[in-house]
Amino acid sequence: MAELTDRLSTFHGGLVLKHHKELSARNKVVRVDRPQSLRISLRVNRGHVSEPVVAVGDRVNKYQVIAQPIHPFGVVVHAPFSGVISAIEEQPTAAPDAESAPCIELDTDDQDRHIDYLPPLPDNHRQTLIKRIQDAGILGMGGAGFPTHVKYDHQIPDLDSLLIINGAECEPYITCDERLMLDEPVALIKGTDILMQAVNASQAVIAIEDNLGGVKSLLDKTIQALDLPAIRVIKVPTIYPTGGEKQLIKVLTGLEVPSGQTPLSLGIVMQNVATTKAVYDAVEHNRPLTERLVTVTGDNVGRPGNYLTPVGTPFYHLLAQADCAMSDIDKLVVGGPMMGYPMPNVDIGVDKTTNCLLLLTKDSSKPDLATLPCIRCGDCVKACPQDLLPQQLFWYIQGDNLEKARDHHVFDCIECGACSWVCPSHIDLVSYYRYAKSELTYLDYKKAKAQLAKQRHESREQRLEDIKAERQAKRRAKTEKLKNKSQAKEEISAVLDRIKNKPKDDGKSS
Ligand code: SF4
Ligand code: SF4
Repeated sequence: MAELTDRLSTFHGGLVLKHHKELSARNKVVRVDRPQSLRISLRVNRGHVSEPVVAVGDRVNKYQVIAQPIHPFGVVVHAPFSGVISAIEEQPTAAPDAESAPCIELDTDDQDRHIDYLPPLPDNHRQTLIKRIQDAGILGMGGAGFPTHVKYDHQIPDLDSLLIINGAECEPYITCDERLMLDEPVALIKGTDILMQAVNASQAVIAIEDNLGGVKSLLDKTIQALDLPAIRVIKVPTIYPTGGEKQLIKVLTGLEVPSGQTPLSLGIVMQNVATTKAVYDAVEHNRPLTERLVTVTGDNVGRPGNYLTPVGTPFYHLLAQADCAMSDIDKLVVGGPMMGYPMPNVDIGVDKTTNCLLLLTKDSSKPDLATLPCIRCGDCVKACPQDLLPQQLFWYIQGDNLEKARDHHVFDCIECGACSWVCPSHIDLVSYYRYAKSELTYLDYKKAKAQLAKQRHESREQRLEDIKAERQAKRRAKTEKLKNKSQAKEEISAVLDRIKNKPKDDGKSS
């Protein structure tokens, strides 16, 4: 099993950034009023699309399943409110580039009729818990959106894992995890205990940044009160991006996740704080994942803070609840200023991974300065927490040498933006890496498809050859049979002829 080290390690690169967290962290959580209409994406963060199991005009109850996954990496989608399905169509979503995906539009009502979600769990066996997590539609709420049950399904049942609960919310401005740890310590610790059973872990660590004031003492007291000594809380240095999966593992254990592999290869499972709370709700209260905390912060926000938001809530509704004045706003970003992505409008619905809406005026957003040629200063190399060669990757991608970029581990880039942040030539390096990754993924897909088509063609050809050979063999056998038959016929008639032509025995002896 991977072990925690006595002394914390460091990772290569990283940045010390201004936090801007005080804006939203102090205020109490506000529950968002029921929106009249929800826009629920059936694909989360460029993952796999789930298939609607309802039709336009259908009446649905709160917590009813409205879409089912058709791929093992998809997730179940539930209705956050009762109401009527008013549309099922492609719409922009809260994904990078506001990519369009099938969405269900639900006109909500206040009847709030519940269906019995699921019966209480019969036991707390590992497989029962994993099934419950799957049925509740839970995925990684820290941003990646990877279905949670899939992570656990791949666990070797008798492997003693280390569970890390990632509370190192390292992006500036975002405070929803901090708020959740302060407001729901019991749910978080009990959720951690449930996850330990689901992943077969004998110890768990909740990692938080060292600037989080009273969070550690609150969680320590809760652990003590619940008598769960296998759970520890560890403070990690506030360096961006400590909350990156590979960076946090390095800090806590000194281990490096090998290129192209996941933490499971080291016997480590990492889960976000919000996901842990969702697991607790699903197991303890039989509730599916239909709402999440979203930080609304930045410029011109009248009531910055954290909002308990139903999945599918349109941005305009959430922004109105937070008294946001949209005049002078230059950018609306989903996520933080480093890894977040700008949104083109406010009609898009919050999804299960939307952790923050950040409003920036021209003064506070990074100015769009003219891009200058790379001066090979190496600042991006020094900043890269994945120990990559960002400028080298940039050269390859710019020269359309994508395979070289692959060889230089472009897929290990976590798109943290540290390289772009420090680049004195204002090169938007991350967008090059995003482009290269999506282009290579597409090329791989095309290659695999062509390979499959070739295999299919070859096996069809082979099948036709086999049929032809079989027919020929049958024909030959038939001809042979006929030949044998006519030969036999000839032999019989020869015998008959012989008998017929034999001189008659007249009884005289010569
Ligand atoms: S930081 Fe910018 S200018 Fe410097 S080496 Fe990297 S890409 Fe080139
Ligand atoms: S965006 Fe990628 S290449 Fe740039 S610093 Fe982060 S991990 Fe390194």
